[in-house]
Amino acid sequence: MSDCRDDLDTTCAVDATTVTDKFAQVLDDACTGEVDDRDLASLVFIAGYVAHKVVPKLSCSLCKQELCTDKELLCDYGGDSDASYFYIDVLNRGGLKWPTQFLTDVVVDVFVVFKCLIAEKYEQAFSEVTNQRELLVKLSLEFLNKSEHMCECGMPISKTVYRCVVTVANIMLNNYTKLLNDKRSTNKAAKVQRKLSTLANK
Ligand SMILES: [Zn+2]
Repeated sequence: MSDCRDDLDTTCAVDATTVTDKFAQVLDDACTGEVDDRDLASLVFIAGYVAHKVVPKLSCSLCKQELCTDKELLCDYGGDSDASYFYIDVLNRGGLKWPTQFLTDVVVDVFVVFKCLIAEKYEQAFSEVTNQRELLVKLSLEFLNKSEHMCECGMPISKTVYRCVVTVANIMLNNYTKLLNDKRSTNKAAKVQRKLSTLANK
């Protein structure tokens, strides 16, 4: 997996993306979105992973503390088939820390917006968007409670949040693409199988 896109400059072209009428209702719909316990467990790990990616890019220890604690995030999958979702390779190498409530909330909000975009109502329109990540980032930033808070080091918290949102968006989209591809190849395999069985019946 390539992470190069995480390094987007904070002045990225997100503003250039126009949220078309098709998605005008997404934020209203997202407000009614729910996150169950199972989702939340996954999202905590994603938040831990996001901190793992973003923290090394921050030079100020206070900024870092906004994202994660010193406590190690231990993972027990117990044969969960969704484990790949959490980049198990990274997790097995250890080093993930418990995310802060602040970062977890950011991840939850991006997730809620994303869930909306891939729900039946928007899925078709979303699949036609050229830059899905830009759209997801833009909508998520609008959905998040904006904080004008500035760290003592002079870094606006919104900049740190932006980096996190981009990283979360990458994770969600990568997994979604993987899921779609898996679905496609399963369908293909099923078709081949059907063909073969038709031939066999002749
Ligand atoms: Zn700082």
